[in-house]
Amino acid sequence: PYDVLVVGAGPAGAAAGVYAARKGIRTAVVGDRVGGQVLDTDTIDNLVSVPHTTGSELAASLNAHMADYELDLIEHQHATGLTPGGDGFTVHLTDGNLRSRAVILATGARWRHLGVPGEEEYRTRGVTYCPHCDGPLFRGKRVAVIGGGNSGVEAALDLAGVVEHVTVIEFLDELKADEVLLTALGKLDNVDVITGAATTSIDGDGTTVTGLSYTDRTSGQEHSIDVSGVFVQIGLLPNTEWLSEAVELNGRGEVVIDERCRTSVPGIFAAGDCTTQAYKQIITSMGSGATASLAAFDHLIRNQA
Ligand code: FAD
Repeated sequence: PYDVLVVGAGPAGAAAGVYAARKGIRTAVVGDRVGGQVLDTDTIDNLVSVPHTTGSELAASLNAHMADYELDLIEHQHATGLTPGGDGFTVHLTDGNLRSRAVILATGARWRHLGVPGEEEYRTRGVTYCPHCDGPLFRGKRVAVIGGGNSGVEAALDLAGVVEHVTVIEFLDELKADEVLLTALGKLDNVDVITGAATTSIDGDGTTVTGLSYTDRTSGQEHSIDVSGVFVQIGLLPNTEWLSEAVELNGRGEVVIDERCRTSVPGIFAAGDCTTQAYKQIITSMGSGATASLAAFDHLIRNQA
């Protein structure tokens, strides 16, 4: 068996793998693709100490850093279950099982998509899911935020300081964000809110986004607005469906962790976007991956076989 088995090979999983392997313990990282969500983006400008990189460059660096260490990188495998037993745990994979004394869950998350025409076509060319990441790309331009819950309104508040104008589009008849956020939003003169609006398409000129169309759900009328960017903020779904029997998840499906990345089960740790960690970013995920590995090592030396 392994001492530490990391599930997921994005920034959190790679950091956990490197930190575990540096302790000289038997380590494996299993995942469906090295890099995780960073593969879905082009420009990355907020990984401190790396002023500018791209998703594919960062994925290659994660791969290279793991290759510097004695760890088994098992790619193109999907974990489907996690069961305790014996001295540790069994992780069930698409092709067989792996045993480990400690497990680190780092399966990340995926943004909920609108599923309208233009969303896929203009992804990274105007359609984005991350205001912290991409806000500065739209400096001086008009953008829309789709979703009027907490994340949508936070995005609008954040973007209003950077872009020329923000239109918040909400499907329901009112915004669902906290009162304090709505009050702050109401004070801004470069933000408009449209409620009761079902986005029907994201429009472009073949190269980049130029606007979006929506149906007014009360009148049934079609409308269009001109924007250069669309921030989709309708939820982040953690990749934890396979873990519901294994560890405690919160109401959003995130793995509940403490400040040492410990889950509800001793010996199982979790890091990155699949967890309750606040502010889902590359740098925070790497940090929690490192924390999870150090905590797993601590667990192993206190529970010697
Ligand atoms: P992930 O990157 O999601 O990696 C998890 C990995 O585990 C994935 O490869 C996934 O496929 C795999 N996996 C899932 N389930 C299983 C399973 N059952 N078995 C095996 N493997 C599994 N952050 C920034 O800081 N700066 C940016 O500029 C930035 N831009 C972004 C742009 C886009 C388009 C997106 C989508 C995100 C962006 N982010 C950015 C956010 C950042 O990518 C994430 O916060 C970060 O990748 C989270 O790392 P992670 O390792 O926790 O999860």
